[in-house]
Amino acid sequence: MTPASQPRTLQTIGEFGLIRELQKHCQTLHSDVIQGIGDDAALLRTSHKEALIASTDLAIEGVHFDLAFESFKDVGHRLAVANISDIAAMGGTPKYLLLALAIPPSYAVSDLRALYQGFKKPCQAHDISLVGGDTSSSKSGLFLCFTILGHVPPKQALTRQSAKVGDKVYVTGTLGDSKAGLQILQRQAKQQTSHADQPYERFLKKRHLRPTPRLAIGQHLSKDRLAHAAIDVSDGLSGDILHLCQASQVGVELWASHLPISRQCQTYTANHCPNPIDFALAGGEDYELLFTIPSRNQGKVSDLSRVLKTKMTCIGEIKPKSFGLRLKLKGGTSRNISRQSYDHFSKKRSKF
Ligand code: ADP
Ligand code: MG
Repeated sequence: MTPASQPRTLQTIGEFGLIRELQKHCQTLHSDVIQGIGDDAALLRTSHKEALIASTDLAIEGVHFDLAFESFKDVGHRLAVANISDIAAMGGTPKYLLLALAIPPSYAVSDLRALYQGFKKPCQAHDISLVGGDTSSSKSGLFLCFTILGHVPPKQALTRQSAKVGDKVYVTGTLGDSKAGLQILQRQAKQQTSHADQPYERFLKKRHLRPTPRLAIGQHLSKDRLAHAAIDVSDGLSGDILHLCQASQVGVELWASHLPISRQCQTYTANHCPNPIDFALAGGEDYELLFTIPSRNQGKVSDLSRVLKTKMTCIGEIKPKSFGLRLKLKGGTSRNISRQSYDHFSKKRSKF
């Protein structure tokens, strides 16, 4: 078989190549679909004042979580936040959750109770009710499928596709903490020796296991019409800025010296990764919000940051599409931003 006639596999097109294919073949027929495939969640008009927001996330034992170093409670908490974060990225309010499960019959009832306790906490904190799901046996490992429903006034919804040339690019919180926390957990599980955690290790592990959804920030950005576009940082900054730029048909210049990296992550990378900037670009599952605003709103974003006591950092500027995606380094040189974040099917894994 010649290379040209070889069938394309998921390994060659990658996770996001597959989603683009699905998008091409699944054009929606309904005029009330404001946003279908391609954003953090679907937006469906229910009245002229309200749109339903819907998003679903799969989590597979051994792919998305590892019970060797995470408790069932941790898994429930982390995955519920991942799902809630997609509503935050649309500027919406979450309301209902459905949870489908496939469970190996040998698992203890108390473990499942712990899983539910884990996701109950962020759900209660944000007034989200579990209203249904489905249950099956699994031949190997635990499978979870979270579906979240929320709402937003249609004109206020934040999407990935409205960034404008000249917008400033902002990110909440710090980048790379979750990835560092995951690596510490994995390393400790492999070594099987227990030593008391250093404070920076405790901080990073918590950032991985107990992330915070940035709901209030997303809601303020949308209600006060501060932002043009937004996405949550789930795959990693390098991948998520690419999604935002592709959807908005723009380029971007990010400023390496402005990327917010916590003191704890800097301590970690000093020992384990020669380049903290690349680590921050690659790190996934931070569930921070990445958004673009017109320059005139920078003062209002600083005020919001003070009121909500959450760091919001300007990390770059939206450029025309022809500019590409570039990272400005110290000394004024720049390089292309290559996607280093997670892809479910790609053979090429992050270097870190
Ligand atoms: P996120 O990381 O924000 O959860 P994803 O990268 O998982 O988003 O998905 C991006 C977009 O592609 C979303 O709009 C999602 O609904 C859509 N999508 C992903 N997988 C599929 C699929 N198998 N069929 C249809 N749409 C999909
Ligand atoms: Mg998302």
